[in-house]
Amino acid sequence: MLKTDSSFSKFQQSLYQNKSSCVDRVQHHLSVIKNKLHLNVFLSVYEKEALEKAAEIDEKIKRGTAGKLAGLVVGLKDVFSYKDHPLQASSKILDGFIAQYNATIVQRLLDEDAIIIGRQNCDEFAMGSSNENSAFGPTLNSIDESRVPGGSSGASAVAVMADMCQVSIGSDTGGSVRQPAAFCGVVGLKPTYSRISRYGLIAYGSSFDCVGIFSKNIEDIALVLEVIAGEDEMDSTVSHQSVAAYSELLKISGEKKYKIAYINGTLQSDVLQREIKSALTQTLTQLKEDGHTIQGIDFPLLEYTLPTYYILATAEASSNLSRYDGVRYGYRSSNTKDLESMYKKSRSEGFGKEVQRRILLGTFVLSASYYDAYYTKAQKVRNLIRQKTKEIFKDYDFIIMPTTPSTAFKLGEHTENPVAMYLADLYSVHANVAGIPAISLPIGKDLEGLPIGLQIAADDFEEAKLFQFSKVLMNFEYSSC
Ligand code: GLN
Repeated sequence: MLKTDSSFSKFQQSLYQNKSSCVDRVQHHLSVIKNKLHLNVFLSVYEKEALEKAAEIDEKIKRGTAGKLAGLVVGLKDVFSYKDHPLQASSKILDGFIAQYNATIVQRLLDEDAIIIGRQNCDEFAMGSSNENSAFGPTLNSIDESRVPGGSSGASAVAVMADMCQVSIGSDTGGSVRQPAAFCGVVGLKPTYSRISRYGLIAYGSSFDCVGIFSKNIEDIALVLEVIAGEDEMDSTVSHQSVAAYSELLKISGEKKYKIAYINGTLQSDVLQREIKSALTQTLTQLKEDGHTIQGIDFPLLEYTLPTYYILATAEASSNLSRYDGVRYGYRSSNTKDLESMYKKSRSEGFGKEVQRRILLGTFVLSASYYDAYYTKAQKVRNLIRQKTKEIFKDYDFIIMPTTPSTAFKLGEHTENPVAMYLADLYSVHANVAGIPAISLPIGKDLEGLPIGLQIAADDFEEAKLFQFSKVLMNFEYSSC
């Protein structure tokens, strides 16, 4: 059985009743971080700064001037710009780089008195599904240290699971928040594309990149989304849609009966681990017993989501990563004779293997001879996938899927086979290709005690409804499968 841990709002009540302090809270998380250094979760810990900020906020609470997130201890994946702090997307190519400004999400967290405790490990430039592509070495899964935490925001999920912070902020381009959330037994949200500003987020695949949130419960995620989402003049792709009062709406008790679709192919698939299938089937049965409408649907385009993603995301990455040339910032090879060799050596010494593979793939699909065959075709398929997905939401409130085909795999298990690694994203990329919101919830464990994740996707900007339904599912009792 897996129950939600205490939400931030409960802790905040105790702060206001003078039963605890922000300083104590930060000290608690710092001691967990120190005891578990071998998990390799944080690349930098802002100990002194976090403690000073905590003391300041304790004072503000006494004076009644504290912000909405006063006392919330947050970890940041190493892809968000936090002024005067190191930032390098876990890559050697950004060695020594210090952020010049605050990402919009960072500024909004700080404005509401959140406390940033450190910078978290991840796959280099958010490319990976296991956190093993980091220039700083892999992060270990705290539930079973011989296993990966997922990726690319693997460390951000471990930090929440192991109680190193209350909330982590990650990025999700193809599943990088939901897949590690599933592997580590926490909740992970990828909101609608354009819901949150990407200003200050290191770009990977700009038409897919989303800021995502990890916590052990839905309430924290709703509250943080409310603070960081919404219009931003620094990112012209952000939606003008107003931001709902997610945390208030979540308090409205969910008596509503929903229409839920699941995709037949996913449950029948041979690649789906048996225990995940049975956990999902049990959940669907219980929902049906509770009066929700559950229907299996066919969605043959699902098998094209992964190739579509890997063509378009690598194309965008090859363009986004061209700025790392050894001239403007970060690593520069010392062993060069002219401008061209400086570019070449800096890039081939600075980027890891997977990043180089993706730059090559992306350059290939964008090259004159292959552009139409791959890039244009994939754009068309993407449109079709989005259109057909939108049609599903005319009849259903949600689509339920497994988050991942398997539970957390062993370290090193897929490092020699990139295609096997890409298959970890089989069910998560759909939401990114279609641009819709999706959340991963922990729904029990497999026979080895490893967490199982269930994914719920909703129509564009339906996060409030997604949270209400997630809460229903978080209250189910889950047994080992
Ligand atoms: N695992 C996927 C990849 O390797 C997703 C990454 C992400 O969402 N950033 O591209």
